[in-house]
This record gives sequence, structure tokens and C-alpha cells, in this order.
Amino acid sequence: MKKMIFAVITTVLATTAMAQNNDFNYSVDRFADIEVLRYQVPGFEDLSLKQKELVYYLTEAALNGRDILFDQNGKYNLMVRQTLEDIYRNFKGDKNSKDYQAFLKYLKQVWFGNGIHHHYSMDKFTPEFSKDFFDKQFNALPDAKKRADDKKILDRVIFDPTFMAKRVNQADGEDLILTSACNMYEGVTQQEVEDFYNNLKDTTDLTPISWGLNCKVVKKNGRIVEEPYKVGGLYSKAIEKIVYWLQKAATVAENDGQRAYINELIKFYQTGSLKTFDDYSILWAEETKSQVDFINGFIESYGDPLGMTGSWEGMVNFKDMAASRRSKLISENAQYFESNSPVDNRFKKKNVKGVSAKVITAAILAGDSYPSTPIGINLPNSNWIRAQHGSKSVSIDNITDAYNKVAAGTGFNEEFAYSNVEVELMKKYLDLADALHTDLHECLGHASGQLLPGVDQDALKAHGSTLEEARADLFALYYLADPKLIELGIFTDKDTYKAEYYKYIMNGLMTQLTRIEPGKDIEEAHMRNRKLISEWCYQKGLKDNVIEYVKRNGKTYIRVNDYLKLRDLFGELLAEIQRIKSEGDYEAGRQLVETYGVKVDPTIHQEVLKRYEGLNIAPYKGFVNPIYTPVYDKNGKLTDVKISYTEGYIDQMLRYGQDYSPLTH
Ligand code: ZN
Repeated sequence: MKKMIFAVITTVLATTAMAQNNDFNYSVDRFADIEVLRYQVPGFEDLSLKQKELVYYLTEAALNGRDILFDQNGKYNLMVRQTLEDIYRNFKGDKNSKDYQAFLKYLKQVWFGNGIHHHYSMDKFTPEFSKDFFDKQFNALPDAKKRADDKKILDRVIFDPTFMAKRVNQADGEDLILTSACNMYEGVTQQEVEDFYNNLKDTTDLTPISWGLNCKVVKKNGRIVEEPYKVGGLYSKAIEKIVYWLQKAATVAENDGQRAYINELIKFYQTGSLKTFDDYSILWAEETKSQVDFINGFIESYGDPLGMTGSWEGMVNFKDMAASRRSKLISENAQYFESNSPVDNRFKKKNVKGVSAKVITAAILAGDSYPSTPIGINLPNSNWIRAQHGSKSVSIDNITDAYNKVAAGTGFNEEFAYSNVEVELMKKYLDLADALHTDLHECLGHASGQLLPGVDQDALKAHGSTLEEARADLFALYYLADPKLIELGIFTDKDTYKAEYYKYIMNGLMTQLTRIEPGKDIEEAHMRNRKLISEWCYQKGLKDNVIEYVKRNGKTYIRVNDYLKLRDLFGELLAEIQRIKSEGDYEAGRQLVETYGVKVDPTIHQEVLKRYEGLNIAPYKGFVNPIYTPVYDKNGKLTDVKISYTEGYIDQMLRYGQDYSPLTH
């Protein structure tokens, strides 16, 4: 599972906990609804030579899987990409012409979507260049004659909007396989695939493999068969390269546990056995000592309409030691936080164990994590492995930081915050306060509290997830202002919490509305939770004027007049929501959500949308990677790995298409 940032990032930071270069140029390119950024890899230089070598081999293993994802996303994606790149290189006409500019935009979109569909909406891109332009450019290619058959297909794939219109169709009542353009099935209907797997599955098996995770399902001689992705099978050329680099990585593993899981992953790629993949996942989940870690394989199944086949994904990372210590410190003091919360004693845990989340620095993004990338990951996905062997939950600090840095330059907070005081507060403290909010929410909030005996854990039904997120958020908000954080040395300034309080209320009451279409209610659980908390505190604090709407020059602003009273309100609501959860009080929960969390004031909504539009912020963001260059001595021994951040979007995409494209070269 992964946690993504979409659309608006409301956080703004100036100071950062990480040692970073402040003159770093984050923005790389902008086109369509996309902004491409670059990220820093702080701490890479401090790794040992052996760790750098390990990171380098793993990044090579990651980059070599790129073609697999393109092909999984659509049967003709590699052909489209290669042709467009050929045209780009061969082009000799007017680069300022409308057609050429539209062509360039389309090519950038195809790179970003890892195919002809939008990475998020899954809709097919619309080319804005003329068919004439394309014909002319194609025919000018040196091998155009040989590729006459390709041309017929390309015309349809690029120019016919009804052909392969959606990558993954989820519309109820349609044959999801026949109506989805992804390339994980061929010549089979949804019913046939479902019957095929129902026959194979043993419902009494308590440790089932992840059926279909690494294969394409096709019909051969009238029979349904799986074609596994493995050495000697589908995508063999790419997988052989991945295995080659993983084998090198195994020679410089940090410890035996890590070497064992790398070797198990190699075995999985060689055999295609999903039982081996489970063995690998267990070894991986249980190995927590090494600093360098990675994901490389068929992981998330959002790209398959039936949710079975994993899209190929790669990411290499290493633990951010300082930030991970912070989360550990919080976890170690879990009992203090539980015992001192404003919740009724009957609903508190007598022995609470915090969950220690790891904070990581991404070193390379690949496959399904590139260029659009998650900010948090929780793996493995197999439920029984998670239950019996645990999982790794990570937040990716340097990616979040890059998002925040870029958001800081958009003028977002300057537009929406009440005054310079709040803007400065957020500049100074929000980085740390936000990180702590996440730590407290993830490590303690969700883990706190208990149900009364006999209460069904699903008693809150459809409102369960909103109320659960509200509970975790309130736990975090309440403790952000607790002196314990100063005592633990996590905060040094007692005003730090105010930055998060202000941002939270401003977002909950106003700025998160930028993500809602006019006339619509709030539906998503996290957004409902934020509205619920902010609106409830606003209403309950009216008599003391805790939170206030202020009008100035025709614009509306939020002002927090009393931060300590706001903390009391957070505590009061936490106690009530914990009671609702502990007693399974469905009706009270429903009332809270419906009264405070769903409805939008249309006038404020309209105003927020208009002000946001004026800022001209790209709704989707993604990243280019840094370049890693190995340095060898005259005996061929690796002596260093250098990192650089100079590559642009087009250059990187062309280089990857050339150097990391085992399925097309
Ligand atoms: Zn949560």
C-alpha cells in the first residue's frame, strides 16, 4: 500500500531538519497538468563506501525494469515511446511550430504516464498535433519503410480516442478486462479469468500465495494459461539485467539477513514461483538491521482492473538515522502519552506498544514509483505475512521535503494565511511540527485506546475510517502542545505546535476545498476527518472566539485567537470520539460526521477555488532522479560513487530510453 500526495500540498517550509542545500533548484519542467521536480539525497555522502556500492548496484537493478512497466501498462506503449523518441531525435523542422510544441507535450506526457494514459485518471492522452505532422515525421525516419505495419497500429493507438481509451476501467457492470487497455490479460474475459482463479484457489489455505501477481493471463489453443514474468519467460531480457545487478548487490550486502533476502528475490525472478516470493517477503519484512533497503518487483496491483497482477516497481533508499530516532523516541514513551490523554480511563490501554515507523531517504525511483512517487509505503501487501511476520512502514523524507520546498515558492500560504505572523510561524516551525504530527498519528494515535469488551470493531460502519483518522489526528494534535515534547528534546521552542494548529484549521475549514469540485460534498475519509475536527472546534469555540473568520478586501481568512483553548477543544473531541469508538456508538459517530464533516459552504468554496486558480499550481508532480557515477581505480576497483543533480527531464528520459531499455534494444 502506498500513500500518495495529489493536487494541493498545503504545507510550507523554509527551515528543514535535514542538512540540505538551500539554493537547490527543485523545479525541472512544467507541461500539461504536470510539474517535474528533482529531489536531494542528503546523507548519501555519509554512507560507507560499501553502502554506496550497494546503493549503486541496486539503482542499476531498479532502472533496468522500466520497460516492463511500460509494457504492462499497454501493449503498444514501448512502440509508441520508441517512435516518438526517434522522431524527437530526427526532427529537423521548426521547433517553435504549434505542431512540434504539441508533439513535445505529448511525448512528455507519455514519459510521465509510462505509456499513453494519464498516471492518475488512467484516461488516454489526446495528441494536439496533426495527423499530417505525425505522418511526415514518421516517414522521415530512416527505417520508416520497414515499419509500415507499426505505422498502422500507431495511427490508431495515438489518434483514435475510442481505442484503448482507459488503462484501468473500474466501472461497475462492465467487463473490466475487455474495457481496460492494460496489458495483463489477452484474449480472455473477466468471467474466464475469475473462473480460472476460483478453480485454483483453496479457500481453506491460511497462507495463500498472491495469485496472478507476476503473470499475464492469456488464452492458448482455447485454454487459459498464465505466462509468468521471469528469466526465460515474459520480460526475460529485462529480468536478466535486474538479476545481474542484484547478484552484484548481494556481494556487498550489509549483513547476512539482507544477503538472504536479496538471494531469495533473485531466486524468485529465476523461477517465477510465488511461494518463493512469499519467502522473500518474509525475509525482507523481518530484516530491520540494515540501513540500505529497496523495493524491486511486482508490487502494487492498482494497475490491474481485477487487482491481482503487480505493476513492476523499484525504489532504493536508506534509513534517515536522525529522523528514525525521533520516531523511536515517541514509541518508547508510548505509555506516557496513553496514560495522560484526556480520554476516559476505561477506554485507555493498560499496556500500549507504539509502532516505530522508519523514516527513509529515497536514492532512486523506478517503474511504478517514477516519475510520480508515493511519500509513504507499507509493505508487504500479503495479509497473512503482515499478520504473522510484520510489515515495514516508511515515510520518505526527502520526497516530502521536495514537495514542501516547492509549495513554499507558490505563494500558497501568503495567499491564504491571515497575516505575516502565521506565514512566519509556518516558515519557522511547520517542517518539524508536521513531521511530529505524522509520527504521533502513525506511531501512537492509531495504536492508542481500546474497545469495551464485546464491542464489534466494525460497529461504526461507513463512518469508521473517518472517525479513526480523526481519533489519530486528535491524539497527535493534542500532544503537539504537550511539554513532554520539549522535555524529550524533540521541540526546542514552545511555539512550534502553533504552526501545525494554524495550518490544520486553515486547511480543514478552507484550503482543502481546492480538491473538491463545485457543488460536491466532501467524501474522502481523511478530508472529512479534517473538516469534522476544524468545524467542530470552530462551532464549540464560538463563545470564547477561539477561531474566527475575518474578511479583508473581499477575501476570507481564518484567525486562531487562542491556541491553548484550541488544544482543550482537541482534547475534548478526542475523548468523545474515543468514547464513540470504545462503545461502538454508531449513532453518535454518524451525527458527528454528518453534522461537521460533509457539507461545504458554497460561497467560501467558490472563493477558495478562485484564489487557488490564481496561483497557477500544477495539480500533479513527479521527479527526475539524480545520477550515480561509479569511480574506479586503475585496477578496476570501485573507490567511490558520485551523485549529481544536473540532469533535466528530457535528457533523463532519453538516456533511460537508450541505456535502460532491455526490451527494445
Ligand atoms: Zn491514519
